[in-house]
Amino acid sequence: MATSKPYKLIRSKRRTIALAVTADASLIVRAPMSTPLSYIEKLVEAKIDWIRKAIKRVNMRPRPVVHDYTTGESFLYLGKSYKLSIAKNTDKKLLFKGAFILNSKEKKHARELLISWYKQEAKKKISERVDWCSRRSGVSYKSLKITTANKRWGSCSTTGNLNFSWRLIMAPLSVIDYVVAHELAHIEYKNHSKDFWNRVKVMYPNYEKAKGWLRQNEGTLNI
Ligand SMILES: [Zn+2]
Repeated sequence: MATSKPYKLIRSKRRTIALAVTADASLIVRAPMSTPLSYIEKLVEAKIDWIRKAIKRVNMRPRPVVHDYTTGESFLYLGKSYKLSIAKNTDKKLLFKGAFILNSKEKKHARELLISWYKQEAKKKISERVDWCSRRSGVSYKSLKITTANKRWGSCSTTGNLNFSWRLIMAPLSVIDYVVAHELAHIEYKNHSKDFWNRVKVMYPNYEKAKGWLRQNEGTLNI
């Protein structure tokens, strides 16, 4: 076969075959129980250009960051990178002043302190953007919560409660605005139909660029 890597085959009660390239650049083929293996092999071969492109795209994504919270490491805030410095004799446990300044006595709690700072900032900034977008579009919402969701940037309940992950505050403002418009549009459309995307476009015309950025860079939005 012409694929460079073997693929994982998952058979289920589904009725169609689907190919997917995962975040770690491996190929997954989902197929009905009864599809002959030879048919699947042929399909994979026929789709080889698409598969190679998808794998290349995944491999081009920036690698997820791993921090050990030492001086000189970088952390994102509103799409910009700021250095962490560990300092003695600071009166605050963690201070943000063009850099993250952590009291040396708090080294063990660096992660928690950063997360609580990010949550606070997320609440402030995202509330501001939601209010602005809501007023402008005339779509009202009930409440707003900052969550610890890992993979979901935002969600919207059937009763109009909006949730956003604190991690979103690491993304550029344009990306935050896209996620805000996306969730507000869900108040009117509970699906991802064409009408839904049209609504998003009215609220945030340049959403496609932000959406692409998020797909490509979401691995970097972590601490
Ligand atoms: Zn959605």
